[in-house]
Amino acid sequence: MKVILASQNKHKLAEIQAILAQYDMELVLQSELGLQIDVDETGESFEENSELKARAVMEATGLPAIADDSGLCVDVLGGAPGIYSARYGAPDCVTDRDRLNHLLRNLRGIRAEERTARFVCVITLLYPDGRKLTARGSCEGLITFEPRGEDGFGYDPVFFVPSHGCTFAQMGAAEKNRISHRARALTRLEQMLEEQV
Ligand code: IMP
Repeated sequence: MKVILASQNKHKLAEIQAILAQYDMELVLQSELGLQIDVDETGESFEENSELKARAVMEATGLPAIADDSGLCVDVLGGAPGIYSARYGAPDCVTDRDRLNHLLRNLRGIRAEERTARFVCVITLLYPDGRKLTARGSCEGLITFEPRGEDGFGYDPVFFVPSHGCTFAQMGAAEKNRISHRARALTRLEQMLEEQV
């Protein structure tokens, strides 16, 4: 069975494909079908936004669709940037670096032990017959006082993982992909698929 990934991201494709392959599902990027679907992320939660993205692609193709939505939630900021992580500080902040510096500025004066945060990822798999699987994963950490490490993307250089003693940008892709919010959401999805068979 073909499943369409509502994303342009080839890294996500490889990660999700590795799991779905066990269930006879072949993951296809929406761009491979010549589809250009830009969804307004108007939802109020990661769950709503990932479903909006999956639903748009499912309705356009008539095929099962999978989408994810993710972001960084900082406790002392009431969960911000959260679902707005990709556009935090807009329109002034344009690059990942701008957004990360904006976050550090907003946390000025906040002590180390109060800088608790988590990355969250929600994956939604929607079938044309109405079935819906929603899997959430998260990864706990602390926001550093300055960026550390060169790897990764987004907020990785300021996301410190106490169990590893380093930031996401310092730990290497393989380790990050083992413990990340996305990996954990995928593990949850795998459990849900397992329960379905
Ligand atoms: P999405 O593509 O709509 O899910 O937006 C996710 C946004 O959250 C990205 O643009 C990043 O700013 C942030 N984000 C999500 N996952 C990660 C991660 O693993 N590392 C760093 N930033 C992330």
